[in-house]
Amino acid sequence: MIEAQPTPDEVDRLAALDRYHILDTEAEKDYDDLAQLASYICGTPIALISLVDEHRQWFKAKVGLIAQETSRDIAFCAHALHEEEVMIVPDALEDPRFETNPLVLGDPKIRFYAGAPLRTPDGYTLGTVCAIDRQPRSLSSDQKRALRILARQAVSLMELRIQVAERRRAEEALRAKANDLERTVAELNRSNRDLDEFAYIASHDLREPLRGINNYARFLEEDYKDILDVDGRDKLATLRNLTARMEGLISSLLFYSRAGRADMAMDETDLNLVLDTALDTLRITLEERGVKVIRHGPLPTLVCDPARIGEIFTNLIRNGIKYNRAETPTLEIGVVEGSRPACFFVKDNGIGIRERHHESIFGVFKRLHGRKKYGGGSGIGLAICRKLVERHHGKIWVDSQPGAGTTFYFTLEEAIADD
Ligand code: ADP
Repeated sequence: MIEAQPTPDEVDRLAALDRYHILDTEAEKDYDDLAQLASYICGTPIALISLVDEHRQWFKAKVGLIAQETSRDIAFCAHALHEEEVMIVPDALEDPRFETNPLVLGDPKIRFYAGAPLRTPDGYTLGTVCAIDRQPRSLSSDQKRALRILARQAVSLMELRIQVAERRRAEEALRAKANDLERTVAELNRSNRDLDEFAYIASHDLREPLRGINNYARFLEEDYKDILDVDGRDKLATLRNLTARMEGLISSLLFYSRAGRADMAMDETDLNLVLDTALDTLRITLEERGVKVIRHGPLPTLVCDPARIGEIFTNLIRNGIKYNRAETPTLEIGVVEGSRPACFFVKDNGIGIRERHHESIFGVFKRLHGRKKYGGGSGIGLAICRKLVERHHGKIWVDSQPGAGTTFYFTLEEAIADD
């Protein structure tokens, strides 16, 4: 008997075999069917799909044989690995490689062997589809061709296995990423709620001592005005101004935290009416500044919190008038045609905003101008707008150039009405 040598690319070949993760897996009908076909086509009682591992050959499918594997040193298939074409052994007893092989002399008493190589797309031979008989014989060229086709089919099945495994891995990775994202969003929501809670408590509790300071400053002003010199009186006035400003900031913070905390009152809402109310609230300012308001198309009816959406419109309209030096401030308000989810806009012909501020203006207390310029403000309005829009699962953003006016856009996701 002559033992087969390892293939010249043995290390890489074994690595290739490993990639299929097929050794020692359960029997599968698709492979069993191929072995059965090999047996029918070649007319042999035994047919196998054999994979040659480092020290053994292992059968993914078998017909007419009980053993699940045999040692590599006696495997016919180990020889077939070296062949380009179907390896045929017409009579093992006549072949010096196999004449004393225990599989020939003992069970299963092999006399005839035909093995078509299982060649991977990257050129490694992993084993064979083989047909075995207990008597000497030969194969017709059609039978050989059929055996080669079966071998190609077996490799296709194995390739499919890799693709399925890869897809499963990709799906799992995607699922893991989605879970991560969900967790991050949940954490973010929690920390936002914590922040709102903190802002609420802090601003609520700070108000009291601040009022005390303000009162005491006033008492000092009133009771000691004859004793204090001008400098002393000025300092007290500054103290009162500072406390008033702080009071303003704290109120804004309180307002902001409420936007995140208070329950939403979702209802089916005609947004035209919401806009009417917002414009009504600002009527005096609009008239004083001679603002021209152009409304585009009817607004939709959506399930949302009307008071909150009213606040958003009011804030955006007020800003469109405030940050505007045009002779006739003009506001265009409407919904982007065909947008889904509905995308609303408030466009002005005001001073505009540099691109680098387009994101930061939505931050708490963020103002781009001096405290008293453009009628002042606390810089909380857009932060509140963003919070309210986000509570409607929408987005808010700005499109603007200095000197070319500003358009604020916001979307609202269709919600389900409260009962
Ligand atoms: P506030 O108006 O109280 O300062 P906002 O949060 O409403 O606070 O706005 C933040 C900043 O964004 C404003 O200070 C202003 O600089 C800029 N801004 C907002 N709206 C407009 C607008 N329509 N045109 C130009 N600048 C704007």
